[in-house]
Amino acid sequence: LDVPENPIVPIIHGDGIGKDVGPAAQKVLEAAANATGREISWMRVYAGESGREKYDENLPDDTVNAIDEHRVAIKGPLTTPVGAGFRSLNVALRQTLDFYSNVRPTYYLDGVPSPMKSPEEMDMVTFRENTEDVYAGIEWEEGTEEVEQVREFVEDEMGFDDVMHDGPIGIGIKPITEFGSKRLVRKAIDYAIEHDRDKVTLVGKGNIMKFTEGQFTEWGMEVAEEEYPDEEVFAAPDSLWETQDEIDIPEDAVMVESRLADAMLQWMQLRTDEFSVLAMPNLNGDYLSDAAGAQIGGLGIAPGANFGDARVLAEPVHGSAPKRAGQNMANPTAMTLSGRLMFDYMGWKDAADLVRDAVEETISSGKVTYDLERQLDDAEKLGTDEYADAIVD
Ligand code: NAD
Repeated sequence: LDVPENPIVPIIHGDGIGKDVGPAAQKVLEAAANATGREISWMRVYAGESGREKYDENLPDDTVNAIDEHRVAIKGPLTTPVGAGFRSLNVALRQTLDFYSNVRPTYYLDGVPSPMKSPEEMDMVTFRENTEDVYAGIEWEEGTEEVEQVREFVEDEMGFDDVMHDGPIGIGIKPITEFGSKRLVRKAIDYAIEHDRDKVTLVGKGNIMKFTEGQFTEWGMEVAEEEYPDEEVFAAPDSLWETQDEIDIPEDAVMVESRLADAMLQWMQLRTDEFSVLAMPNLNGDYLSDAAGAQIGGLGIAPGANFGDARVLAEPVHGSAPKRAGQNMANPTAMTLSGRLMFDYMGWKDAADLVRDAVEETISSGKVTYDLERQLDDAEKLGTDEYADAIVD
């Protein structure tokens, strides 16, 4: 992405532990930018609790407009109260600015206590569709006219009267479009080509949800088959695993294959080294990327970013962890490494590498926050601020 040498970067520190990890990550990112001869003009913008305090709104227009205009932004977690009538702010932000892919790299960092023990064991990037699926927020509660209509339709017209049991019911809709699926898969394949990765795995539960997740996979395969030259992208047939010997796979091509979502959760734990780039609908992507995060040290570590066309909004995978909020305890690594993804997208590769190296060196020297310290012998437990200072040092 072409950004000015000294860009304005909107930042939402976030709710809960966002108040701890937001400023800490900002400090590290600024130091890395400065050390590589650049300057960031941070623009504090507000959402969630801080939005309500300053604007009496959860998602003020000023915030949306700033991210829209400056195209590169970073946010901490925002709390979504459980219950009716509160649409997730994160979902609203992703949908309003059409950040249609959520990208989460999962790689082993030296020194982190985790089931993975080396970078060779796990280096995976998940592409999660970000605007559709059951997260689109199209759902109704018992007592609404829509629920009655759906109940009648399913029972009377479809004849599925054994599905809708008597008593209260909640109904949700799972839209998966050709447009949304194809642009997500295209992004994943382009990423694989640009980053010299050998495989893209499409993950859906198409054997059960044929017209949603099944279509996602079919549309994804169409992209692989029709939009790239054969020597660049090889669309693997379903029968690949039985007939591998007879199929001529071009040597340097990115292979696009598909796996069923439930089996994939297992393969991802057992054979982490076999997967490289994963592309999937929204709900699968949420679960799979959290599970992948657990393989490399947990939510305190796992970074992410939302991409649209020519826009990025970096954000950690974790939420606002209210129990740990405001105690200078939480781990700012996830948000800091999310900023690294933002740097990467801006073409600031040296700054991005510096952030990763500094985080890795700090952790492997035994300086960590509480979440990692309790799993390590001989580690030094630092507060959020002190840990950020150690990374800057
Ligand atoms: P969570 O990710 O906030 O916390 C789960 C647990 O993970 C915490 O109790 C803590 O033990 C650990 N943890 C998470 N981040 C950590 C960090 N940086 N350092 C150390 N430990 C960390 O998940 P939750 O409790 O299910 O959700 C809390 C709130 O966050 C909810 O309102 C939810 O909607 C929201 N949420 C927001 C986002 C987002 O803003 N993108 C994402 C997920 C959840």
